[in-house]
Amino acid sequence: MITKIFQYEIFNDNMESLLRSINNFEKVHIISGNPEVLSNGLQNNILFDNFTSKNAIIIPDGISTVICSKIVGQPVSEKIAGIELMDSLVKKCESENQGIYLLGATKETVDMCNINLRTKYRKLNILGSHDGYFEIDNCEEILQEIEKVSPKILFVAMGCPRQELFIAKYMDRLPCSVFMGVGGSFDIIAGNLKRAPKWMISIGLEWLYRVAKEPFRIKRLSSIPKFILMVIKDKYKRK
Ligand code: UDP
Repeated sequence: MITKIFQYEIFNDNMESLLRSINNFEKVHIISGNPEVLSNGLQNNILFDNFTSKNAIIIPDGISTVICSKIVGQPVSEKIAGIELMDSLVKKCESENQGIYLLGATKETVDMCNINLRTKYRKLNILGSHDGYFEIDNCEEILQEIEKVSPKILFVAMGCPRQELFIAKYMDRLPCSVFMGVGGSFDIIAGNLKRAPKWMISIGLEWLYRVAKEPFRIKRLSSIPKFILMVIKDKYKRK
């Protein structure tokens, strides 16, 4: 099931069904569909083509996308947080003995993330990791390493739009089946950052918690009302 917001097809079902859908792809880019990422897609042709290609799944990550789905009259059945999907995918990889690769964040963070994932998922096959501070157009060594170890899933934590641009540029070349940009998830898994308390997440205030913890995010919040307004305008234009 799909919710259409602009030309984007937003996944509209529960986590179980999402995991099944991902399995059906030979190669897929999972995009955390929040206003910042989706707005970036509208402003950049490479991202737009990638986000709207047949090899993309956009998940409704965040309350704003849930609100937009209601505005267009096709409410999503549930919000799907990128970090929760990452956890489910990691768990599945452990049980199926499939490998993953962690790309992004600082070296200390990605190393700590690696350790914490191995502690939580004892049999998890982490085939390699690398920090996210390199030139996207000049990273042959990293690409060759990923090719060599050939993970089933590549998690990329380099923030938006850097991680999406990396995936769009290299997903055809790299032998992974699943590519997912996971933003600050390595920081959370490493223990540098905490997720908002459950009650805040459940009433859609995770963004407020993040701004309180990292005030520099306040500027980036402007993409939320702008995106919602664009969706409202688009709806009335179509009427
Ligand atoms: N990051 C990176 N390379 C860069 C810039 C950022 O690897 O050139 C990492 C940063 O260390 C952090 C992650 O990207 O771990 C996520 O950044 P941010 O919190 O901005 O992403 P968001 O969750 O907001 O998409």
